[in-house]
Amino acid sequence: MPFIAPGRPAIAPRHLPMLIDGEFVDGGGRDIITRDSPAHGLPVSSCPAATRDDLDRAVAAARRAFDAGPWPRLHAADRSAVLMRVADLIERDAEELAMLDTLEAGKPIRQTRTEMRDSASWWRYAAGQARSLHGESYNNLGPKALAMLLRDPVGVVGMITAWNFPFPLISQKLPFALAAGCTVVVKPSEMTSGSTLHLGRLLVEAGLPAGVVNILAGDGPSVGQPLAEHPGTDMTSFTGSTAVGRKVIEASARNIKKVGLELGGKNGMIVCEDARLDEAADALAFGLLLNTGQCCQSSSRVYVHEDIHDAFMSKVAAAVERVTFGDPLDERVMVGAIVSERQLDRIASYVDEAAAAGCRVETGGKRLSANEGLFFPPTVFSGVSHDSRIAREEVFGPVLSAIPFRDLDDALAMLNDTRYGLAAGIWTQDAGRGIRAVRAMRAGVVWLNAWMEGYPELPFGGYGESGLGREGGRIGIEEYTEIKTLLLNSGPRSEWWAGAPEGK
Ligand code: NDP
Repeated sequence: MPFIAPGRPAIAPRHLPMLIDGEFVDGGGRDIITRDSPAHGLPVSSCPAATRDDLDRAVAAARRAFDAGPWPRLHAADRSAVLMRVADLIERDAEELAMLDTLEAGKPIRQTRTEMRDSASWWRYAAGQARSLHGESYNNLGPKALAMLLRDPVGVVGMITAWNFPFPLISQKLPFALAAGCTVVVKPSEMTSGSTLHLGRLLVEAGLPAGVVNILAGDGPSVGQPLAEHPGTDMTSFTGSTAVGRKVIEASARNIKKVGLELGGKNGMIVCEDARLDEAADALAFGLLLNTGQCCQSSSRVYVHEDIHDAFMSKVAAAVERVTFGDPLDERVMVGAIVSERQLDRIASYVDEAAAAGCRVETGGKRLSANEGLFFPPTVFSGVSHDSRIAREEVFGPVLSAIPFRDLDDALAMLNDTRYGLAAGIWTQDAGRGIRAVRAMRAGVVWLNAWMEGYPELPFGGYGESGLGREGGRIGIEEYTEIKTLLLNSGPRSEWWAGAPEGK
């Protein structure tokens, strides 16, 4: 497969401040976080590391902005207008934002440009949701009682995001929380803070009141964990690994805060003998390779009917081999770098173990030499056992395990035999069979003759250890609300002492 070795681009590293209570915060003897491009090994950005005092000030600012500020009390149309302006500014700065995510995360520039366009669309969709959020009424409780369910913003939200989709991940959370009237403290991954810190400037320019959004930089243990534990927040919305998600749940116990969790996945696709094989192979290659496989919805295991297994796997290998990988700044490249050396070692150890266990290498399988940078060639294994580690654990790299099946019920049982439950899908031309299969799948998003297609209108999230709650769609804004039950009694009240049940 074509590899374009990264050059040594002339990059002027960007320095970005944090945003606390409407002020850009920098210097003051704080440690500096620097980030090198994983593709080029060159410094590309830096920012100050938040101190404990910064965290407390950010939470206090968000608290004040929620408890006493205008934001939660505005007409939704005014909140919506600010979110629309942010979307315009994201489009204006799309190239700068795309470049930050490409350089910090190693993502192909053609991909991050699309991600910025999609992110602006998420902001606009959430802006619309602000104006259509509503509760319910109960006009069926007898002659005296009329009841309503009011949706109140949940309060101050701590948001913690992962490095794999820095800007899309925050764009799937923040505008929904803001639309609901919440205030927020954000902590992006230490490796990829640039685009989120740049967003801070756009929020100020769009006219967001001080303290409504505060953006901190820092690593998980020193900023993420204390933010998740903080008694001043009412909710934590987290995207990351299941292991850290568990810690976020534990941290929430301190003040019984709400949690929203978007966690890992080990997503299975089934390919039946009657599937349109070229389309299925293309979708599988896309699901495997998008974001270099560092994707929560990655199609990392595929169950292929025995009758078409070899023919289909040849098509998959051919589709994968056509894709150019390497320098993420090159517009021809579709598969970029691995985010860190640690992640590269992890992927390599899974691949070595599978090869040693006798899985057939259809393509890839060998790490590049050390001086070629943090890249891993897309790798496809067939003849994998459903019980092997590579077929059960999240590799988070461009590595596919193919498992043959004879009977669809067996394939569905294997597909559902996982602690995760994020995404799943099936390829078949028999609509009845496809519908029965997707209904049997235990996953938050299921596809029939599609993979990794999503829209802001459609919620996503996971069953099992893939998460709690949903992002996107109407539910996406409702997740950031509490329900308040209001009962109005038009009287007259029947007196309780005289025997009326509960005075109704
Ligand atoms: P991590 O869980 O390691 O990190 C996620 C975020 O949590 C980062 O900002 C990290 O900070 C922070 N963090 C680390 N430790 C703590 C802690 N103790 N308390 C609070 N926050 C902490 O995940 P990765 O960054 O490795 O991301 C990959 C994972 O994310 C995969 O499992 C993937 O499937 C999942 N993911 C899920 C998605 C979904 O929608 N379901 C979407 C995207 C990814 P720092 O990095 O600065 O140390």
